[in-house]
Amino acid sequence: MTAKIIDGNAVARQVRGEWKKRVDVLRARGVIPGLAVIIIGNNPASRIYVRNKVKACGEVGLHSETHEFAADTGAQPVIARIEELNRDPRIHGILVQLPLPPQLESRQLLGAISIDKDVDGFHLYNVGGLVVGENIIFPPCTPYGVQCLLEYENIQIEGQNVVVVGASNIVGKPMALMLMAKDATVSICHIKTRDLAQYTILADILIVAAGCPNLITAPMVKRGAAVIDVGINRLPDGRLAGDVDFERVKEKAAFITPVPGGVGPMTVTMLICNTVAAAERNANKCNEAVPVTA
Ligand code: NAP
Repeated sequence: MTAKIIDGNAVARQVRGEWKKRVDVLRARGVIPGLAVIIIGNNPASRIYVRNKVKACGEVGLHSETHEFAADTGAQPVIARIEELNRDPRIHGILVQLPLPPQLESRQLLGAISIDKDVDGFHLYNVGGLVVGENIIFPPCTPYGVQCLLEYENIQIEGQNVVVVGASNIVGKPMALMLMAKDATVSICHIKTRDLAQYTILADILIVAAGCPNLITAPMVKRGAAVIDVGINRLPDGRLAGDVDFERVKEKAAFITPVPGGVGPMTVTMLICNTVAAAERNANKCNEAVPVTA
């Protein structure tokens, strides 16, 4: 068996095309969806991610702006800027690019973002909505992108064994919660999981977000599984690789995502979707709020 290679770029193009139409409707109503990206420090990978997000916004017709801070900035100036952006009617989504320099607490900065502009979906309100299965304003972008890829490929989720390798707050945990909400049976593995392979071999859908190249080898994968590789690792020779031994696992899986060109483009796309949805909600709220005069 050779797996179908899921083309994240192609799915992302299609999703962006659909959402571009919604942007056009908003623009015809005089609303331009706006995203503000806050970047602190000089992490080269973060700079590339921010550049990609800004470029994608431009392609779909969104306004975007980048707010840069020096690596040694304290929390207060960043929080003050977030509060300004919370009040700015041109901005519908605010994201703080992670990771942060060590003196900053992500919880503190993320908690300052207005709930209705939290397009990354990291605010506790959004996380809580995921846990109780309701009131999710913004699904977190990477897990939302993975779910979208599974749906585009018509991969059944309900009743399937899903194994998520990685338990971070931004990928692994929300991913597990989203697929539980779709009635999958989900296991989450992490660095202290004993004998990772005994879990992964049972997965109908295996989602890997650990940040370890070649963590998942072919003997660890069930024949016919769907393998979604979220990991992005820079190899010593400069190439990018995921967490899965792509060449060998593709001979055993039914579906597999490449790195690059799999989950990455979907993460950026879902950020755009969340920003457009925020602008739509805000525009509808403004319409509803117009007082009816006699
Ligand atoms: P993270 O915060 O470092 O979390 C990694 C998770 O993997 C942790 O839960 C860790 O366990 C677990 N882990 C690490 N090594 C492991 C091992 N050998 N066996 C089992 N579990 C292991 O990273 P993250 O932010 O979730 O990102 C994970 C990867 O996805 C990174 O490569 C990142 O670059 C990539 N990523 C990609 C996208 C995209 O759009 N494609 C978006 C976000 C992140 P503990 O909790 O026990 O430490």
